[in-house]
Amino acid sequence: MTNKRLKSLRANAFQSQSGRCYYCGLPMWQVSPDELALRPRSAGPFRCTAEHLVARQDGGKDVVGNVVAAHAACNQRRHKHPATAPSPTDYRTLVQREMANGEWWPR
Ligand SMILES: [Zn+2]
Repeated sequence: MTNKRLKSLRANAFQSQSGRCYYCGLPMWQVSPDELALRPRSAGPFRCTAEHLVARQDGGKDVVGNVVAAHAACNQRRHKHPATAPSPTDYRTLVQREMANGEWWPR
C-alpha cells in the first residue's frame, strides 16, 4: 500500500521531527522495534506511519509539508470515526492535552 514516494516522505518527516510523533511527541520506530528497545508484541502502536495533513480524498498531495510522521496508534485513532475525524491541528491539541494528563497511552 505504501508507495516509494510516500515512504521517502515519511522518512524525511521522521528525520525532521527527530523521530518523534507529530501528535504525541514520543519516539517512533521505522524498521525494527529494536530502535526503541520494545518487544515486538507491544511495538505495533509505536510504528512510524505517514499521515497526510490534508487527506488524499480532500485533494492532499504526497508532498513535503503535507506528510508528517506519526505513530500507527495516533494515526489510527484520528481516523476511527471518519465522518467526524478532527483536523490534524485540533487532534494534535487534543492528544497533547491527554498527554499532559497522562491519559493518552495506556499504562
Ligand atoms: Zn504518537
